[in-house]
Amino acid sequence: MSSRPNISCLQEAKRVAIFGGTHGNEMSGIMLVNMWIQNAAEIERNRLVTKPFISNPRAVEKCTRYINTDLNRAFTPENLSAQDVQGLPYEVQRAKEINQKFGPKGSSDAYDVIFDLHNTTSNMGSTLILESSTDLFNLQMVHYIKKVMAPHTCSVLLNEHPQLKYSTTRSVAKHPIGVEFPPCTVEVFRVQERMDYPRDTNGNITAMVHPHLQDCDWEPLNQGDPMFLTFDGRTILYEGASTVYPTFINEAAYYEKQQAFMTTCKEILAANAIRKAFK
Ligand SMILES: [Zn+2]
Repeated sequence: MSSRPNISCLQEAKRVAIFGGTHGNEMSGIMLVNMWIQNAAEIERNRLVTKPFISNPRAVEKCTRYINTDLNRAFTPENLSAQDVQGLPYEVQRAKEINQKFGPKGSSDAYDVIFDLHNTTSNMGSTLILESSTDLFNLQMVHYIKKVMAPHTCSVLLNEHPQLKYSTTRSVAKHPIGVEFPPCTVEVFRVQERMDYPRDTNGNITAMVHPHLQDCDWEPLNQGDPMFLTFDGRTILYEGASTVYPTFINEAAYYEKQQAFMTTCKEILAANAIRKAFK
């Protein structure tokens, strides 16, 4: 029995993967992962297997986001359990291969951590995306990364939304940890709502993100603030009752997802101290 009730014990992390090219036109991760495949010295650590990996090689070859469908939405239980591979979209086949190699998702054989590297056309700066507000490992890791990056900022997007959460490539991993950290708190931006562009009855976009909102990722949007500017010059105001913090503002890849930006609210998460569990 522990006499220190606020310390959680977790198994040591042994295998970490770093993915680039989940979206084949997002070059930072592709360049870094290809560099580490040539020479892994920079990412090697004692007692840890580190695996750099290009997740969508055919899309990378064509420098396109995907071939048939978005790989970063393809890790659904239905796709991963599909028996007949013939005729499946390329990215669904690829998701099954990645799940075999780095998962299976939800099993004890899964990699401990997958870092999935992306780019955005929004003005978000460096951003970490969390999928759970109760994953101690990730909260501690995010806290550590923010501290190491200071004075540069690094925002944390918490995508725990029941409808807007999606089946990501990185979701294949589990998240224990092998070092000791004191308790900490982390400021996160919790996903709330997807805001689409104003459209006409044919579904065509009729307005752009208002210049006062463009590039203002993570800044407060209050009731009455300009939100869109119609192509005939009319300003559309934000009318929500509570202040929100928009992000992914005008992300080019999200036109097809009917999203002009995403609203979030600010929250502080607390994480217990954690230390390595000894068997
Ligand atoms: Zn991406």
